[in-house]
Amino acid sequence: MVAPAFEYVAADSYDEAVRLLADGGDEAKILAGGQSLMPMLNLRLVRPELLIDINMADDRQPSVTGGLLRLPALTRHRVLLEHDLVRRGCPLLAEAAWHVGNVRVRNRGTVGGSLAHADPTSEIGSCALATGAQVVVRGPDGDRTVPASELFVSYWTTALAPSEIITDVLIPVRRPRQGWSFQEMVRRTSDFAIVAVAALVELDERAATIAGTRVALAGVADRVTLADPELLAGLAGCALTGGTGDEAANAVAARIADRLEPPDDVYASARYRRRLARVLTARALREAYARAAGAPA
Ligand SMILES: Cc1cc2nc3c(=O)[nH]c(=O)nc-3n(C[C@H](O)[C@H](O)[C@H](O)COP(=O)(O)OP(=O)(O)OC[C@H]3O[C@@H](n4cnc5c(N)ncnc54)[C@H](O)[C@@H]3O)c2cc1C
Repeated sequence: MVAPAFEYVAADSYDEAVRLLADGGDEAKILAGGQSLMPMLNLRLVRPELLIDINMADDRQPSVTGGLLRLPALTRHRVLLEHDLVRRGCPLLAEAAWHVGNVRVRNRGTVGGSLAHADPTSEIGSCALATGAQVVVRGPDGDRTVPASELFVSYWTTALAPSEIITDVLIPVRRPRQGWSFQEMVRRTSDFAIVAVAALVELDERAATIAGTRVALAGVADRVTLADPELLAGLAGCALTGGTGDEAANAVAARIADRLEPPDDVYASARYRRRLARVLTARALREAYARAAGAPA
């Protein structure tokens, strides 16, 4: 299919893009990597009259300051895989990025675009939740910071106002006794996830027991979803080794999966997604624990 006609403007800065977006109202849309927007235009699922290209607005690279990894919104998925600061500061995200689409999608697609697109199966979105990321947003009244946990509203819908743009994503840098794991089930490599799980496990300072855990899931609801911290609290003080460790991980994963109400669609039944959520969560907890403890998974 061919996209409907639209006007095109390349913005030199985020401020200019916000101005154009505010002037354009409902008829204007930001264009970043184009990996979601262009297919939607070609399928005529959206018909904006104006596309505001932000690719010239920002040439910053990832950086680390004050314990935070700063990812400019235009950071490509490929950069997440390759950039040393990302690989060291947030290995969870570097690992998850391998699962995003194919090499062409990873070359063009951006972190800001993924979060703004709010696909419920998004690898980047689930990592943003698991890491406790903050999203910096610019609008006509200036900048504000939105926790990732408040960004996703429903299918392809965020808490961004119509004339707001994501400029940066801030992620707490990995701490020394923190392990990570990203697990995903797809039917074919490069497909969107049926279910994916992002997990972080942090150990106590002087013992190989768990101090804290965060788990986020994709493909189980109308948005990427953070597992209820209360369901994970039972792991505090545990060591996920041997039979007892397996039992603890399996029990928590089962409680998380039982709480979900996943969609039933042409790709998978709700029952199958719930089962995947249980299996992948248990696997992710064990691998994240092993990495935190410096042991083989
Ligand atoms: C074949 C294929 C396979 C794919 N597989 C996956 C996959 O497995 N997992 C996955 O998560 N995604 C997948 N994608 C989507 C891909 O990750 C996109 O890159 C991503 O969803 C959107 O990023 P983008 O930079 O391309 O945004 P665009 O397509 O340019 O924009 C997407 C939406 O976000 C808005 N937007 C973009 N940037 C900003 C910003 N900075 N501030 C505010 N709004 C903004 C746009 O207006 C638009 O509404 C796939 C795409 C294709 C074509």
